[in-house]
Amino acid sequence: FLSVKGLTKAFGELQVLNSIDLTIDEGNIITIIGPSGSGKTTLLRCLNALEIPDQGVLSFHDGFEVNFGQKVSKKQLSKLSRKAGMVFQSYNLFPHKTALENVTEGPLIVQKRKRDEVLQLAKSILNKVGLGDKMDLYPHQLSGGQQQRVGIARALAIEPELMLFDEPTSALDPELVGDVLQVIKDLANEGWTMVIVTHELKFAEQVSDTVIFMDHGQIVEQGHPSQVLKSPTQERTSKFIKRVI
Ligand code: ATP
Repeated sequence: FLSVKGLTKAFGELQVLNSIDLTIDEGNIITIIGPSGSGKTTLLRCLNALEIPDQGVLSFHDGFEVNFGQKVSKKQLSKLSRKAGMVFQSYNLFPHKTALENVTEGPLIVQKRKRDEVLQLAKSILNKVGLGDKMDLYPHQLSGGQQQRVGIARALAIEPELMLFDEPTSALDPELVGDVLQVIKDLANEGWTMVIVTHELKFAEQVSDTVIFMDHGQIVEQGHPSQVLKSPTQERTSKFIKRVI
């Protein structure tokens, strides 16, 4: 579905991604775990053109390819950013827009789609994430879990081909985590292709086809969740897992 080859990114002297190779199959759910600063968020942002890699090639199933070793046009970047919907750790909602307006913003303003069609789509997505009765409320009137579900609805509304989640529950009070994870599980059951950065190892175990352990900008280990999380082959992975549990 998407192949990532040699993805490399530095911030000044700091090499944050060190030639990452990764294959994402259609309908698969990949979770990325690893210590703070290992490059997980940067990897996700590179897949969505929120960060521009220094090197590397992204190739999609439909033949669309971006080679960051060469000059990349604005048109290519906007096409890349539309392929994936991103859900942020801190929701990133517009504070002065209602839940519904947050969800319609992308398709209306960026994609310039028809208002009636977008409203219908946004309402059905908000219903799906359990916020049918909260559409006209502003972010500050919603709980963290509800705000994050608006964040998920907003990402879905651009009708992306894959979904990226950056630690979607780490800003939430523990009792609100479950609802958000349930929405992600529902999307998994619908067959979405997803890449999820998470610290929730139990969730990773339940939902993933593949778990990736990253450290120092490299993929140290990847495999079936039961293998990586229960019997890792690399010492760095087992140390991390022991520390997190
Ligand atoms: P965490 O689990 O704490 O979110 P992470 O694995 O997601 O960490 P990244 O957010 O990808 O790690 O950051 C990797 C490194 O890159 C960190 O040392 C961070 O300080 C640095 N970094 C990230 N973004 C920038 C930026 N825009 N400018 C400079 N340095 C950055």
